[in-house]
Amino acid sequence: MEQKRTINFGAGPAKLPQSVLLQAQQEFVKYSNSGISVLEMSHRSSDFSNIIEKTQCLLRELLNIPDNYKVMFLQGGGSGQFSAVPLNLIGLKGDRCADYLVTGTWSAKAAKEAEKYGKVNIVHPKLDRYTKIPDPSSWTLNPSASYVYYCSNETVHGVEYNFTPETNGVVLVSDMSSNFLSRPVDVSKFGLIFAGAQKNVGCAGVTVVIIREDLLGHSLKECPIVLDYKVQADMNSLYNTPPCFSIYIMGLVLQWIKNNGGSAVMETLNKQKSAMIYDIIDASNGFYVSVGGIRASLYNAVTLEDTEVLAAYMKEFLKEHQ
Ligand SMILES: *Cc1c(COP(=O)(O)O)cnc(C)c1O
Repeated sequence: MEQKRTINFGAGPAKLPQSVLLQAQQEFVKYSNSGISVLEMSHRSSDFSNIIEKTQCLLRELLNIPDNYKVMFLQGGGSGQFSAVPLNLIGLKGDRCADYLVTGTWSAKAAKEAEKYGKVNIVHPKLDRYTKIPDPSSWTLNPSASYVYYCSNETVHGVEYNFTPETNGVVLVSDMSSNFLSRPVDVSKFGLIFAGAQKNVGCAGVTVVIIREDLLGHSLKECPIVLDYKVQADMNSLYNTPPCFSIYIMGLVLQWIKNNGGSAVMETLNKQKSAMIYDIIDASNGFYVSVGGIRASLYNAVTLEDTEVLAAYMKEFLKEHQ
């Protein structure tokens, strides 16, 4: 039964669809015919194998992931991938160097972490403030870089790429934690995509990594085994105990996205939601600005109706205080 709840515009962990919460509640004590909770289940049991398999199939279907890509469900969050990416990929070419686009807090953190393992080249003139994507004509990409890294949506600063960077054949890596499955994406343009689940596709604890197969097996010798993509891909993310319950929740959310029309419909709804809010910001004569102040996130599970409530409140607040 649907319940009236507080509308959650949190930056992450974010709102989950109520139908997902209710299904999880219903199955919480006894999952299917297993007689036990997913929380108690062996990660090697047939019930859990079905859960992880189904979750992976849904993800492949929703993002149209080509067959030569592996999908992994790892721990350590998006931030864990800031280390895992260089540990696995910076050694792809002999020079151990990588190109980074630093357009906000998250990519800045990722670049800092990569510096521990190799040479990091920031490809564009340093930005004083994170308010825009530097024009590609100002980028100096290094053709012998092992990969080019960028964060497709800088969650804190609200700066999102509306294009996929051209790297002239160099492996492209993207942190899509906050816009994952908010719109369709052409996975074949990427060497690697990662995303923490707790923004758009589930709860905290699991991070999705999608990697092209030829990039497996190049990790540095100091790479921790749980972060080694080849080990995890070969073992279907079961080298050690995976975040079972988080994977289960993600499976429910992916099914919800599928039932609601998939990534294309998510994009249409997300555009309507953001237009509703940005129209008010843009018409406010500078009363509302996008950086600083209060942040409202409109992830997939936030509905049009939720957004209308926020829009009405912003209009009211503007009228009273401008
Ligand atoms: C939230 C977020 C992260 C950090 O994720 P954790 O799972 O907390 O480590 C990284 N990148 C982006 C773009 C994010 O939005």
